[in-house]
Amino acid sequence: MQLFDTHAHIGLIHEDQMEQLLVIQLAKRKSVAHIVSICNSLIDFEHVYENLKTASNVYHAVGVSPSEVANPGQNWEHRLQTFAKLERVIAIGEIGLDYYRNYGDKNSQVELFIHQLDIARSLQLPVIIHNREAGRDILDILKTRLSDKGGIFHCYSEDARYAMEALDLPVYFSFAGNITYKNVKHLQDTIVKLPLDRILIESESPFMVPMAYKGKRNKPAYLVETAQAVAEFRKMPLEEVAEALYQNSLRAFHLPANA
Ligand SMILES: [Zn+2]
Repeated sequence: MQLFDTHAHIGLIHEDQMEQLLVIQLAKRKSVAHIVSICNSLIDFEHVYENLKTASNVYHAVGVSPSEVANPGQNWEHRLQTFAKLERVIAIGEIGLDYYRNYGDKNSQVELFIHQLDIARSLQLPVIIHNREAGRDILDILKTRLSDKGGIFHCYSEDARYAMEALDLPVYFSFAGNITYKNVKHLQDTIVKLPLDRILIESESPFMVPMAYKGKRNKPAYLVETAQAVAEFRKMPLEEVAEALYQNSLRAFHLPANA
């Protein structure tokens, strides 16, 4: 069995470089063949990329998340474009809108999001989308701005109806460890209704730890719990679901079959 963790904040799990390498090794032993490392800021990106650039099972996404809207850093556009062209960078992200937290004002979040969607289109890269209580605006923006390289709704949190509307776009829906908890009827319902070939999984580590590891700091090595939950909802064998999700991940990031 091989799993693909489409979203892990390696730099937040551990700052220590040795520990980061250990996190990746452990994941490999737990069937996680690939991890996409998601940066927290452009500074964090540089550190993690440098440390892990020779790790053949780790890819990287780079972007300015809505939490950084007030201070994306000097020359951020130029730096983002430069980083995005690095060999192991396969997506722009995470980018999006977060109306739950008071990150700047709505307009500046929207502006930053649109700007990065345009950069992603010009570089022909897919995007990883962060959505917190901003589903309507995100969908409206994606309808006109998303490139044909598509995008991933990371840590999917909307309901099935929203997913059905979003399905018209070239997007995937990535589910995190919270689907292993009780009272996630809307997520279970979404996973059952979506076409299997549009579903991904992610650790969102160090957050969203699966039920079986409750109280611990999440890491990619726990991802099988989330795959198991998808398998149960879809009433399919774990191996079969894992393989389908793995293939979906390769497609979502436009990676070759032998990646
Ligand atoms: Zn994240």
